[in-house]
Amino acid sequence: MRPFSLRTRLTLYYSLILAILLAGFGFLAYRSLTLRLEQSSNEELDERAAALKGFLRFRNGQLSLVFNANDPEEAYFVHNATKFYQAFDLRSGELVAQSRDLELLGIQPSPSEVRNLAQNLKPADIETTQGVIRFHQGVFHAGPKQAFLIRVGISLQAARMASNEFLRGLLVLIPVGVLLVALGGWQMARSALRPIRDLARAARRIDIERLNERLPLRGTRDELDQLAQAFNHTLARLEDAVGQMRQFTASVSHELRTPLTAMRGEAEVALLEAQSVENYRRVLASQLEELDRLTQMINQLLTLARAEAGEIRLGENPVDLSELVASLGEQMEPVAASSQIKLQVQPAESIVIRGDAEWLERVVLNLLDNAIKFTQEGGRIEVSMAAEGQDAVLRVSDTGIGIPTEAQPHIFERFYRAEPSRSKQVEGVGLGLALVKWIVDRHRGRIEVESRAGEGSCFTVRLPLAGTAGRPSMTNSSATVLPTSPL
Ligand code: ADP
Repeated sequence: MRPFSLRTRLTLYYSLILAILLAGFGFLAYRSLTLRLEQSSNEELDERAAALKGFLRFRNGQLSLVFNANDPEEAYFVHNATKFYQAFDLRSGELVAQSRDLELLGIQPSPSEVRNLAQNLKPADIETTQGVIRFHQGVFHAGPKQAFLIRVGISLQAARMASNEFLRGLLVLIPVGVLLVALGGWQMARSALRPIRDLARAARRIDIERLNERLPLRGTRDELDQLAQAFNHTLARLEDAVGQMRQFTASVSHELRTPLTAMRGEAEVALLEAQSVENYRRVLASQLEELDRLTQMINQLLTLARAEAGEIRLGENPVDLSELVASLGEQMEPVAASSQIKLQVQPAESIVIRGDAEWLERVVLNLLDNAIKFTQEGGRIEVSMAAEGQDAVLRVSDTGIGIPTEAQPHIFERFYRAEPSRSKQVEGVGLGLALVKWIVDRHRGRIEVESRAGEGSCFTVRLPLAGTAGRPSMTNSSATVLPTSPL
């Protein structure tokens, strides 16, 4: 069965709760009315029985009621109280007096029943054709050997009718009331849910081609406005991501097409013009270089793609960063020296962090490689390590060409190369720093750059020292989103 709609469910809950409440209150009211009526009947019956006793006389072997017939109040009381009245001689069990009403109703216990009743003087209800009559029974002692069982009754008919009437009223009014409230609730639920329907309609209109559209806000700041706002934020992020994806596709196509076109042109010219083996060899060598660059780019792209898909698991082992930096510094020194650059690694005490040594090596190598690439002959590169608070801090500074201020926020994006014209002369496709940032993020660290065009750059990497909590971990995230454009 299909689950009920929200509107139906709201109405049902609402009506059910109301029905339960009304039925509960109704039942309580009915019970207290019945008890109250019963109690007042009992009180009246007790009163009548007690008062009648005062009018009973036994004279000349006869039991009679003696009262002042000229006193209308007294006469009325006795007349009223003896509407259901019976007196039995307890010795014989015979009826000695009874009211006309009881005579007509034919209620007359047998002598043995009379004696039983005298033993057990409890009020008793008797069902008659005129409804239930409640009897009060008492013994009247007329003399040492003369006693009578006196029964005085009161009809419960009116009280029972009143409470039955009340119950009937409840049984009609409660369902009608619940029905009316359910209809009202159904309408109310409809208008309460209208904004949600409007939101759904607006949301349906938005597709990948119209990601710039936003859901309307009503300005009420209520839950629905918050929902719309959250949805709009998601849309904004999606729009951003799709935009970056498009730009990324364009960048990849461009990065692949340019060298391929160049290689094709070169090959065509060689086929048409090259006459010597030497010429072919030169062209092939240049194409190999270009192919190397393309392979490197594709490898980096694949690494980034795998990283983003959460396929790469980084180790969580103690790594002595000072040692790692010192050994990489030694390794890169000859490379720097071949470009007439002085690479200096400041000695530092052992600084241990938790992470993956292989991937951390990539961070240092990429930063050193960039520093060497973007520093002119005669320049200087300095690498330092320090423990600052809870962080291990690695600084790689150079006296190179620097990064223009407007380019700095973008250098960690994929394929971003500041001033392409100047970096064309140096190798690289603009993926190195994107990978560096991903690795640093996965180690719960941060990377920052300070640079001035023409003066040099300083990259600072902060990684939490082993034994500290560090920043919120992304290590176990299976779908880590790279900080720059998506792959
Ligand atoms: P690339 O493959 O071009 O080196 P990266 O992602 O490593 O790509 O770097 C992105 C861009 O950031 C580089 O093209 C360069 O413009 C700039 N950059 C990175 N490091 C330095 C540096 N030490 N000095 C000057 N510019 C740098």
